[in-house]
Amino acid sequence: MTIYNDQISHYISSLYAVEDSALTMAREDSPKQGLPAISIKPEEGRFLQFLVRACSATKAVEIGTLGGYSGTWIGRGLLPGGKLYTLDKDRKHAKIAREHFAAAGLDDVVEILIGDAHRSLQEIKNQGPFDFVFIDADKPGYPAYFDWAIENTRVGGIITAHNAFRKGTVVGIVEDDDLSELMRQFNQRVAENERLISTIYPAGDGTLISVKIR
Ligand code: SAH
Ligand code: MG
Repeated sequence: MTIYNDQISHYISSLYAVEDSALTMAREDSPKQGLPAISIKPEEGRFLQFLVRACSATKAVEIGTLGGYSGTWIGRGLLPGGKLYTLDKDRKHAKIAREHFAAAGLDDVVEILIGDAHRSLQEIKNQGPFDFVFIDADKPGYPAYFDWAIENTRVGGIITAHNAFRKGTVVGIVEDDDLSELMRQFNQRVAENERLISTIYPAGDGTLISVKIR
């Protein structure tokens, strides 16, 4: 049996998630500027980029921009002329992310919407349907963000949500915190949804992935 650990993680990243200077900057500079160090890992980013291109996405939405690390991977997966709307309530995060997107050559690809995501999602609805959605913000918001994604994604589109493992608490590797049960219920609810084929990509903190089939 093979165990997914840091060595395996590094093996995948060193082959397939090699960063250029813009990605390294987005990952390393954000915590230096006082942002929480909670970006996805390189191989998780590569996986998002892979999914974006696998569904030939031109229109993507990200909920939870932080310093733009995951957004850079997503933006680089889009077909030429594609657009990523990324949502964050924190003005400082958005400002730093904007610099990182510019350094990555994505100024024309990424639009940052500042404000509560529930509200911004209503604002961008008319730009849809979307091909790809990545949810990585406040966990209590996940059920509503996910429902929005199902309604505003085309059939064949892909919906993803980070932290499906909630640091391993969902299976008791680590003791529960106040959001573990919420995440367990969320995972269960997605699993039962017949409009989707879903699973969890087990790198990092787990990414729930769903393709909309009807
Ligand atoms: N996807 C990023 C990490 C996101 S961290 C990456 O991997 O690089 C979570 C982000 O969600 C934070 O920047 C936080 O400000 C934002 N956030 C939390 N609650 C939010 C809400 N209700 N609306 C919009 N953004 C929110
Ligand atoms: Mg996360």
